[in-house]
Amino acid sequence: MTANQATAANDPAAPIRALPAVAALTALARRQGSGLADAVLTAAVQTALADERAAILAGARPRRDEIAARVLATVAALEQPRLRRAINATGVIVHTNLGRAAVSDETARAMAEAAVSPVALELEPERNERGGRMREIAALLAALTGTEAALAVNNCAAALLLTLSALASGREVVVSRGEAVEIGGGFRIPDVLWQSGATLVEVGTTNRTYARDYADAIGERTAALLKVHASNFRVIGFVHAPALSEIVELGRDRGVFVVEDLGSGALLDTGRFGLAPEPMVQDSVGAGADVVLFSGDKLLGGPQAGVIVGRRLALDRIARHPLARAVRADKTCLAGLAATLRHYARGEAVATIPVWRAIAADTAVLERRASEVVSALASRGIPATSVPSEATIGGGSLPGQTLPSRAVALAVGDEAGNDLDGLARRLRVGPIGVFGRIERDRLLIDLRTVPPEADEELVALVAAARAGE
Ligand SMILES: *Cc1c(COP(=O)(O)O)cnc(C)c1O
Repeated sequence: MTANQATAANDPAAPIRALPAVAALTALARRQGSGLADAVLTAAVQTALADERAAILAGARPRRDEIAARVLATVAALEQPRLRRAINATGVIVHTNLGRAAVSDETARAMAEAAVSPVALELEPERNERGGRMREIAALLAALTGTEAALAVNNCAAALLLTLSALASGREVVVSRGEAVEIGGGFRIPDVLWQSGATLVEVGTTNRTYARDYADAIGERTAALLKVHASNFRVIGFVHAPALSEIVELGRDRGVFVVEDLGSGALLDTGRFGLAPEPMVQDSVGAGADVVLFSGDKLLGGPQAGVIVGRRLALDRIARHPLARAVRADKTCLAGLAATLRHYARGEAVATIPVWRAIAADTAVLERRASEVVSALASRGIPATSVPSEATIGGGSLPGQTLPSRAVALAVGDEAGNDLDGLARRLRVGPIGVFGRIERDRLLIDLRTVPPEADEELVALVAAARAGE
């Protein structure tokens, strides 16, 4: 060992001094085609190098070329849109981690147009006077559900927070013990109530609550009776919850608001497609609830939004609350929501809205598509089989309910000894990510959630991922 090497081995700072220079890495990134502005590129390299330095101080001993590769990958990732197109082949129709509902082409066009162009958002073109931004969706929702008024906000969570803040702050809200639930992502009904300034009064039991339980809890401080749809779980067996109409009658009688949080908010009858009935917005409005809330991007199949419908008296109060301005829907959302609602108004929702196309897809058609994909893959030398599968609704709708489906199964342990996780990863990270699901040593590409137009592309993407092995 030379004297120099001995010094390096004993010097804890030596690996840090061996880190590649910022200038060398920015030059390398440029040669690899980085289009970042100079100052941004330098800052990105410095940040990535700082992470490497921290890792070395924590004991890591990466090779110089590994460091360079990681820094370049981090810098390159800045130029790649992360939210690029993907194919949902999971069989979960409303997939939260894949962005929930994909909107129809017409809806996407309406949203893009509102984004790139000025639109008469709060103007009445006829008289060039100020007009409400909710006019269009209110008119469509009135025609579709019979509601007196409507309002769209950022999402259903915001809709509930706003509604309770406007109607019940400083007062009491009665909720069945079985409905004081957690929706997901930390969204808990008791917490939302607390945040709105209302006090939760729980009634009944986890499995059985009667109208008289609500009645007994109503007092001077009661502002509202809140019904929450148990979206993501089911209690079965010895259960009871009063019908919404009973609660509405009670609310009228005692002069308190009745609010129903539907979550999914279907405008079509899921029973038509062999599923359990999901409560429909028009039924809740028809039953006379003062306020009905639902998401725009669950079973409605539109952009992310929280839709508030119901009686004018309650809606006026909600619209005037300061929070309404803080959580209001933007022009692209409103244009998209209106386009989606128009599909329902024309009676073409099942044919045009991706969520309903997936729910309504005929199993015989799925089988035929699977056979076609299997033979297209076979002609490229890729072994695959068509297998039965079960799709779910997802997005906190219809828990436990499945739809028969068909999947293309890519097996592992084939002659090339390919590994399944590696293939699944290459499919996910490709230019168009393909997200399937792994089940019993097979990668399943469930076709119920894949639009038929994407089948050919899917074949090409699987072939490319196999070629990368
Ligand atoms: C999903 C859901 C929400 C939240 O809706 P977001 O649009 O995700 O904010 C609220 N309430 C119920 C009952 C739900 O199912």
